[in-house]
Amino acid sequence: MTDSEAQNIPALSRPHIEPGKLFIDGEWCEASAKGRRDVTDPSTGKVITTVAEADATDVEAAVTAARKAFGTWGQTSGRERARILHRVADIIRRREDELVAVESVDVGKPVSLCRAVDVATTAEIYEYYSGLAQTIQGATRQIPIPAHAYTRREPLGVVGAITPFNFPLILSSSKIAPALAAGNAVVHKPAEDTPLSALLMAEILAEAGVPDGVLNVVTGGGAEVGKALLRHPGIDKIAFTGSTQIGRYAAATAGEALKPVTMELGGNAAQIVFEDADLDKAIGSAIKGFVFNTGQFCMGGPRLLVHRSLYDTVLEILAGAVAGVPVGDPFDPATVVGPMAAERHLAKVEDYVRLAKEEGGRVVTGGERLELGGGYYYQPTVIADLGDDSRVVQEEVFGPVLTVQPFDTEDEAVAMANGTPYGLAAGLQTTDLARAHRVAARLEAGIVWVNDWAMLDPAIPFGGVKQSGFGREYGPEVLESYTKVKSVVISLA
Ligand code: NAD
Repeated sequence: MTDSEAQNIPALSRPHIEPGKLFIDGEWCEASAKGRRDVTDPSTGKVITTVAEADATDVEAAVTAARKAFGTWGQTSGRERARILHRVADIIRRREDELVAVESVDVGKPVSLCRAVDVATTAEIYEYYSGLAQTIQGATRQIPIPAHAYTRREPLGVVGAITPFNFPLILSSSKIAPALAAGNAVVHKPAEDTPLSALLMAEILAEAGVPDGVLNVVTGGGAEVGKALLRHPGIDKIAFTGSTQIGRYAAATAGEALKPVTMELGGNAAQIVFEDADLDKAIGSAIKGFVFNTGQFCMGGPRLLVHRSLYDTVLEILAGAVAGVPVGDPFDPATVVGPMAAERHLAKVEDYVRLAKEEGGRVVTGGERLELGGGYYYQPTVIADLGDDSRVVQEEVFGPVLTVQPFDTEDEAVAMANGTPYGLAAGLQTTDLARAHRVAARLEAGIVWVNDWAMLDPAIPFGGVKQSGFGREYGPEVLESYTKVKSVVISLA
């Protein structure tokens, strides 16, 4: 009996994936210029399939289809949209194995993580917004003049969704599900490196009864497809998730065209371990915060700030525990850390670890590339003794690297946690309830976790402050950014 059979985990093999086409107006089609792009399995470095490489002409076709479809979808009742979105959730659960296999082979995610987090959360997102689709409504207003006044919440029209490589299923669904729930049509551009699950989701949405043209998927480069979406006058809103650098360009370009945007950008969160923390929980959270998704996690916690009285102890425990984290083939159910999603991400991590050593950092464990089956593997790495102004502390490394720094007082810990340009997430470990609330209020972040890390749910809004962006995804709050308010005032005179 294999380990996975013993744990009742269905074994999955690497899927065969047919070359991908664009999905426009309910049809699968080649890119107008007939371009193709290779898709690589990060655990082997080998090309597994190709997808269509679109350009502005294809974006034009997708926007035209979406505008036409919006005419009907925007008028469909919330209840009918809810039924369809609920069917999407059901089909995701039925086709779970297929989604897990495709996302794992494309991103290099361990199948166990992909099943428990990526695919499960994607189903939850559709289920959650299916519920909310029926609740969108305006309000009546009592006013002192003889008139009946009320508001209507109307869909915006066509949403351009641009998503990054690291959580393709979740980050596209966190845009597409609420956008559709509110009655919008969508043109989705997935990341170049990891486009496969977006095409599978197009198939699933069609199977669930999402009408032709309501979701269109256009694969291709950021500089061509992404830019064309940002500028297109037929797109009413841009929902962007990606790096702060590209986000700045995207916000400026969409701003030029006066399009509303939501910007979910980079992160570099701190986890603070106070002297009264439960150390087992603190170590568990610290490890989860930087090895989860091989550290390619905007809401990761790559900066551990530890009270000086615990600094040496924490480093010693971390060194042993991190060295024991299973790194390997994503299709082995025992694997916790898979490869990085692309060679260039691995090269960036190697550069940062080299820089950390030059900056006086001490590698406590890890610090090397792992030669495994030709894949893009890096050892989970802990670096101690870097100063606050170190670039490795200040910048977003986006890999399995944790820096550990000591602090003496609560004020100092808060200042260090807030001391980078980012503000997506933050966390603290304490058994003192008053301190938990006091410090949570002072941390500059869109979400604060206490005594655990990465507790997320479609019902909890998340998003950034400072250079981590603006606007919120998840929760009922996001529906406000996919609808506009119209006031109607009828004279009673
Ligand atoms: P990226 O910024 O390189 O790319 C994001 C998307 O933008 C991709 O689809 C890309 O093709 C597109 N793009 C690139 N150039 C473009 C252009 N000129 N015009 C329009 N679109 C363009 O990001 P990435 O490397 O794919 O993802 C990692 C980054 O995303 C990290 O910084 C991470 O923190 C961030 N991220 C943020 C969140 C969040 O919720 N805040 C979630 C996940 C990832």
